[in-house]
Formats: sequence, structure tokens, C-alpha cells
Amino acid sequence: MSDSAGTTLTERSQHALQDDFLRAAVKFTTERLRGRKTDSTNDLGNWEEWRERGKQIRAHTIAHLDYYLDQFTTQVERAGGKVHFAKDGAEAVAIALEIAQQKNAQSVVKSKSMVSEELHINHHFGEHGIECIETDLGEYIVQLAHEMPSHIIIPAIHMNRHQIAELFSSESGEQLSSETSVLAGFARRKLREKFMQADIGMTGCNFAIAESGSVVLFSNEGNGRMVTTLPKTHIVMMGMERIIPTWEDLEVMANLLPRSATGQKLTVYLSAMTGPRRQMELDGAEDMHIIILDNGRSNQLGSPEFQEILHCIRCGACLNVCPVYRHIGGHAYGSVYPGPIGAVLTPLLNPEDEQIQELSYASSLCGACYDACPVKIPLHDMLVHLRRKKVEAGRTSRWERLAFRGFAAAFGSSKRYRLAMNTARALQKVTVKDGSRMSGFLDMAPLIKGWHEHRALPYSEGKSFRDSWQDLQQELRSAPAQGSPADGSKEGEK
Ligand code: SF4
Repeated sequence: MSDSAGTTLTERSQHALQDDFLRAAVKFTTERLRGRKTDSTNDLGNWEEWRERGKQIRAHTIAHLDYYLDQFTTQVERAGGKVHFAKDGAEAVAIALEIAQQKNAQSVVKSKSMVSEELHINHHFGEHGIECIETDLGEYIVQLAHEMPSHIIIPAIHMNRHQIAELFSSESGEQLSSETSVLAGFARRKLREKFMQADIGMTGCNFAIAESGSVVLFSNEGNGRMVTTLPKTHIVMMGMERIIPTWEDLEVMANLLPRSATGQKLTVYLSAMTGPRRQMELDGAEDMHIIILDNGRSNQLGSPEFQEILHCIRCGACLNVCPVYRHIGGHAYGSVYPGPIGAVLTPLLNPEDEQIQELSYASSLCGACYDACPVKIPLHDMLVHLRRKKVEAGRTSRWERLAFRGFAAAFGSSKRYRLAMNTARALQKVTVKDGSRMSGFLDMAPLIKGWHEHRALPYSEGKSFRDSWQDLQQELRSAPAQGSPADGSKEGEK
């Protein structure tokens, strides 16, 4: 769970809203990413056609997931790898630990993997005396800070180089300057030692290609290649939905993912592994294990509302456009998956956790996430479905239920609606001060208090629209008809 586990979404958000540095850092980086994405998709020319193709590939794959998982498994095993299926996190962790114990492993180096974050694998290895080191620079920073990633693609988006210099200084035991070259140099030296010593390399998987049994990694730092070639054993942790059918499909994904994630036309390193090292090959792991995780994913198969969540390619583009994420950052979500994708995925993967269900309210439902999504996942619709489920399960507050009962009663008949509006108009004379600010009276209203802490309610001047409309009708009825002798106009004077 989160760095602030145990607190509510509202409490974590309020905490984040007080942090001006966090908000400025997240705003700066997400705006830069959005700008780059716009440039790189404009360069491509027909972005909407690429999106549509991406959506079709993901929809077809997920609709035939059993077939492609079977094909993938056969091909991996033909290439000498081993596939393990894990129904939940505990099973996946147990498989990984068993492999590590069989190898007498003392240390594991990891390249970026959201699934392993989902399972808190570093913690589990640590409990068994196995050191597990993140080697993606951003992940390494948040690991040293004992934090969770706060963005899918840029885990340390909330930190600046001075904070990173402090972390690295305490790790190295000497004062390091905050020059980025110094910081990168320290991480490179430190991680290189770890690569050389590690018994196991663990990676995630951006795409798994069913037709050949290959695991494909996209990275910008080259650490993925060190992790997969230096240690003798390679463990891949992947969600069961990572599959695509063919290499031809990868071409589409290789255009969609980097452009959506960082605005790059192509990722810097695109690595593909098909089974372990073969005879005569100079590098690569001698053993390859692929752990395919369900952990609640298969529950979404066949769901008309939620199956499409499995289409996600974890690009992070929905985070960069989300007005809520840009204000509260990633940690406020209290989940390894922040932003709009996290607000849908986390409640779906944890249906029994009542507190997590509140994440579906971390959205303005503006739909910007849908427009940004390279595979057109309607996250905003899913958020509404999740809220509906929460209401149907009776998981809403007493005040909310009361408010909506009042709303339904008022809007259920035109007579009651008019009465409610007239009462509200009369009440604003005592609740809205100085034409723009609310008085202390409404500060006590439970549902409105939080809303108006950051907003001013405008005073509604003059008549209501309904009254003005009636007056206008009245005027028109009593005015003399145009062109009649009484209005003095003559034909031809136009
Ligand atoms: S939901 Fe779409 S935009 Fe968000 S991470 Fe997934 S693929 Fe990217």
C-alpha cells in the first residue's frame, strides 16, 4: 500500500494539496511530456488511425486471451524457458522465492516492473535475506527514499536533484553535488557493482509475443540489458494481459507506447528475449522463468463494463492529462498504480477493500484520459460504473445518501423543483457574502465544506432564468404585432 497507508484518499489529497513543491514539480513534468507527445504524434500524421489499430489489437488479444497464453507458453517452453502461472500475488511471490532459494541467490537486480511493485517483491525478498536492488534510475531513487513510485513512467517525478543528491550522499557516505552528471555517475558506479554480483535478474514485460514466445522490454537506460544478460537466472514477472499475437502487432505498439509515454518516436533500447541463452551464444541468462500473474485480472474477462481495462499498455499518458493527478501527484492514490488508470485498476484488483473503492472519486470525469489513451480505453465510463457499484453496495456516506434523496425529491416534480430553487435563491442572501464568498454558515455543511474551501460560489443576481423567460413571454404576448399599423412601419422600408 501507500507511504501513507491507513489514511483516506481525502486526507492524502489534502496533504498533497499543501505541498506547493510537489504540485509545481508534477505540473512542470507532465506539461513537458504532453507537449512532446503532441509533437511526436503530429509528426506521425495519422495518430487516430494508429490508436484505432492499437485498440483493435488489444481487443482481439484480450477476447482470445486463453488461446494466446497457450500459444505463448508452448513457444517459451520450446525455446527452453519455463512458464509459471500464479493465481494471486502470494503465489507469484512464492514461485519467485522458490526459484531464488533453488539458486542459493543472495542478490537480485531488477529492471522496472509495475507487476513486481504490485506484489511488493523487494520486501518479500528482503524478508528472506535476499537483497533486491532497483536499477532503473527513478526506481532506484524511490527505493532509497523508501517510497513508492509516484508515476508509472517517471517514478521520482515528485523529487528534485537536490533531494536526490541528499539521498545519494547518505548512501555513498560522502557529500555529492546536485549536478545531474555527478548523480548519474554515482548511480552508474553503484549499480554496475550490483549487476556484476547479482545471482538473479528480474524484469517486467512490456509485451509478450505469442507467436514466438518472446518477451519484449522497452527502456531508455540500458539497465534492462544488464539485468537480462549478466545474472545467470532471469525471472520475468508479467501480468497475464501483456500478450500480443505477433511481431507485426509489436510494430504498432512500438509506435504507440513511446510516443504516448515520453513523446519519443522510438524507445532507446528495444530488447527481445526468446528463451534462455543457447549454445554458442555469448551472453544471456542460462535459466529463464516467466511468472504470469492473474491477481484479479481474469475477473474482468467477459465484463461489458471493465474488460477493456486489460487493454492497458501502461504508458502513463492518462496521468499526464488528468487534472486530479496533476494537483495531488501519485502518492495520494495510495496505490502503485496512480492516476486515472490506478483509479480504475486498483479498485478492480481489490474489490473487497472498501477504502480502495473511494479511488473512483479521484476524477473530474472530464474524459481527458480517454483522449490521451493510445488504445482508447474509456476510463471515465469505468469510473462511473465503479461509483454505481459503490452506491449499489451501500458503501456511500450517510450525508451523500441524504443529499441525493433530497435531490431526487426536489427534481422529481416541477412544483417541488420550483420551490427548491426559490428557497435556494432566498437562502443565498444569507449564505453568500460580498457577492462571491460563502459565509461561515455553509462552512458547517458537511458535503459543501470541502468543495468551497478552494472555490468561491458566485452570487446569483436578479431573476431566475425561469422567471425571466416567463416575463419575456408575457412581453411578447402584450407587444403589438410587427408590421401592424400600430408599430408605424411601412412595407418596403427594410
Ligand atoms: S489507460 Fe491508456 S493512457 Fe492510461 S496507462 Fe493505460 S494505455 Fe496508457
